[in-house]
Amino acid sequence: MSADTAGTVSSITQTHCPYCALQCGMGLRRGAHGLDVVPREAFPVNRGALCGKGQNAPAVLASGARLTGPLVRDTREGPLRPATWPEALDRVAAGLAAARGRHGPDAVGVFGGGGLTNEKAYALGKFARVVLRTSQIDYNGRFCMSSAAAAGNKAFGLDRGLPFPLADIPRTGCVILVGSNPAETMPPAVRYLTELRANGGTLIVIDPRRTRTAELADLHLAPRPGTDLALALGMLHLVVAQGHTDEAFIAERTSGWPATRAAAMAHWPELVERITGVPVPALREAVRMFCAPQAAMVLTARGPEQQAKGTDTVGAWINLCLATGRAGRPYSGYGCLTGQGNGQGGREHGQKADQLPGYRSLTDPAARAHVAAVWGVDPADLPGPGRSAYELLDALGRDAPDGIRALLLMGSNPVVSAPRAAHVEQRIRALDFLAVCDVVASETALLADVVLPVTQWAEETGTLTSLEGRVLLRRKAVDPPPGCRSDLAVLGGLAARLGHPTGFSEDPAEVFDELRRASAGGVADYAGITYGRIAAEDGVFWPCPTPEHPGTPRLFLDRFATPDGRARFTPVEHRPSAEEPCAEYPLLLTTGRVLAQYQSGAQTRRVAELNAAAPGPFVQLHPRLAARLGVAEGEPLAVVSRRGRAVAPARISTDIRQDTVFMPFHWPGEGRANTVTNPALDPTSRMPEFKVCAVRVTRAEGGAEG
Ligand code: SF4
Repeated sequence: MSADTAGTVSSITQTHCPYCALQCGMGLRRGAHGLDVVPREAFPVNRGALCGKGQNAPAVLASGARLTGPLVRDTREGPLRPATWPEALDRVAAGLAAARGRHGPDAVGVFGGGGLTNEKAYALGKFARVVLRTSQIDYNGRFCMSSAAAAGNKAFGLDRGLPFPLADIPRTGCVILVGSNPAETMPPAVRYLTELRANGGTLIVIDPRRTRTAELADLHLAPRPGTDLALALGMLHLVVAQGHTDEAFIAERTSGWPATRAAAMAHWPELVERITGVPVPALREAVRMFCAPQAAMVLTARGPEQQAKGTDTVGAWINLCLATGRAGRPYSGYGCLTGQGNGQGGREHGQKADQLPGYRSLTDPAARAHVAAVWGVDPADLPGPGRSAYELLDALGRDAPDGIRALLLMGSNPVVSAPRAAHVEQRIRALDFLAVCDVVASETALLADVVLPVTQWAEETGTLTSLEGRVLLRRKAVDPPPGCRSDLAVLGGLAARLGHPTGFSEDPAEVFDELRRASAGGVADYAGITYGRIAAEDGVFWPCPTPEHPGTPRLFLDRFATPDGRARFTPVEHRPSAEEPCAEYPLLLTTGRVLAQYQSGAQTRRVAELNAAAPGPFVQLHPRLAARLGVAEGEPLAVVSRRGRAVAPARISTDIRQDTVFMPFHWPGEGRANTVTNPALDPTSRMPEFKVCAVRVTRAEGGAEG
């Protein structure tokens, strides 16, 4: 049985999950009560396996919470009421034009999402720069893995989540997973780790908590949150001291080693133990396991990346790979396990503040000229780089200096997902005008002047780029509710109202063809990728510059993407987190995800099966800390930082350090973890420090503090 180019086999539409960056393949079949998910064994990444989120994905489409018609608010304080599409689009165009007319183009902001298809991300960036002429565009993918992107660009001259397919993992000798919990965030990927171990390889997990993934490991190191940079430096120190460096590789394929070596030698194992809490023998064991085989990998995720020193932390792990010759060789290297469904493609095609399509820099005159020619505009008319995501949100409102007065938001829910969320919510409320495109009435959509109900996932076709750099096609399987339109149609309708009647197609295939031309010659070159090829080949890895090019599953085997072809060491030093514990805030909070919920929960909180599995937030804490606080399992705990207070039931477990508490971040209201988190930014990636802040914890209704 073969699939046609429309991806239909016996009435089953071959597509991919709407959620995380693994982009599991799945089939969709029309059943008596909507779409049924069927396994897609032939897709090589997940080989038929799905987590509960994927299995229940169609439930969101039929959810009673689904928006099915535009809503508008007549006054800022008034209720949202139903409206026609022409009225709603007129209102959005007028709101954006009024802010631009009164305060200039940069008074209009655009905020996108890492779940948008490549076509939408591309069109949104073009809309911001060509129609609105604003520099103020960024997206929530900035919160996802921008530190890994910055470190990858520095070291390798290119940022792609994984420079090799996941299928290479079982063929390496050792994997270090840093701050990653795929057993909960992307369970079908765990089979690669179990296959690694079945093949005789070893798995090291570095995480302050003993997670489900850590339980699979040969070695689990539990450093204090915010100290994994020191841990990497300590390992590199031992690598040098024990003679595990690959001098030939360093000489032939890298630059900058002496300064990096010197920085590592200042981090004695005993010093690293004092900083991290990881005993020296465990550090030595990690080095022994990593250096024993011929090939090894380091994979990072949000743990090391979501820190105010995230770029340096990832850089330290890359340095470890380079010093041992574990990069640019088969079954070796550094990779980032990207989180959001299109976190990778979303940053390649122009919704990031500093980038143009094809991963081109907005400050590069040649890049500006190329993209401007595709868009039919003068390069001089393209704005420069704007604010990063948190800085953009922080600048919203009439009372902010050089404030953004009107915002178009697409596919994001920052009221729940942004750091210092109560402040961000206040900034959003201070806007003159807010328009939100979403599938459900998210917490952010409920603050909007206009809400535009859009199609999603199985109701539309589009491409996404997985964490492997594999460009995939999600196909339409069902018609959307009659009152919904695609984001592309929304942008086309707004562009026409704002004086650009052409140039914004609502046909994703047409948009993708334009994206291919805009990306041609760029770092993320999609010029040779077509919908037909993706269908025939089950995805095409970028770069793929011509139709004849096979795509690039493995990067850097011959040379790195730097001008001289060498990978660059970057000397880094450990430094404390932006907030360290003190008398008033003596504990550390770290945040993360749970298996049954996804990101801000805007969609998964609407699915009964997922809510039954993960109904609400909690505070995980160690039994000794619980005893000190006099708190029992399930009792409400208040977690308080300099920014605010979140309340959730205690979950007592020996799987967490005694100096640390953990909260998942999927819920709004009093259990909103991001009320507490710290927006301190990494100086390079502008990534907020979600993963560590100082807190005090009390029983919510009085009691001892800890
Ligand atoms: Fe979807 Fe990710 Fe679950 Fe796969 S692992 S089914 S892509 S949420």
